[in-house]
Amino acid sequence: MASNSKARHDRYRLPADAERRSRKLAEERFERYLRDHDLKLTPERRAIVREFYRIHEHIEADELLFHLRRAGARVSRATIYRTLDLLVQAGLARRIRLGKDHAYYEHILGREAHEHMICLGCDRIIEWIDPELTNLVFRNCAEQEFSPARHSLQVFGYCQDCAGSSEAEKALELGEDANLSTGID
Ligand SMILES: [Zn+2]
Ligand SMILES: [Zn+2]
Repeated sequence: MASNSKARHDRYRLPADAERRSRKLAEERFERYLRDHDLKLTPERRAIVREFYRIHEHIEADELLFHLRRAGARVSRATIYRTLDLLVQAGLARRIRLGKDHAYYEHILGREAHEHMICLGCDRIIEWIDPELTNLVFRNCAEQEFSPARHSLQVFGYCQDCAGSSEAEKALELGEDANLSTGID
């Protein structure tokens, strides 16, 4: 799954210099956010943010921990989860929930906004952008005099490889996942 999401994630990547700038900006914004909440950008948090912004795919907290430990950083699992939560609250990362205790994270700075299709069979994440949908979101927000900061549409279902499985057929037949099919995070 990692290779799939990686290839797709690369589609929305910026040129290297713009990426460097956005990484620096992200760190500055995070530091400001922490300061506003009486928290500090500790060496552990800084290491986490830097590694997180180097990775251009949807990543689980434990995968990030693995990357950091391999690079020789000494950070605890609890600090990773806490820091990712703070990045989400600061608007610098998105959390894609796949279940109660299962989530992927992706950073957002310097990347084009995009939507996700999430396969319930194999956890594959397909990214997509459709200007018609974006226009629809902005038009509806304007009608409600609502100022949108960000949006994310998550469509749960089955990818091409999983669509024929008995699990997929049962779920689609029963409409068991209908309540999830347009979950917006
Ligand atoms: Zn699948
Ligand atoms: Zn994404």
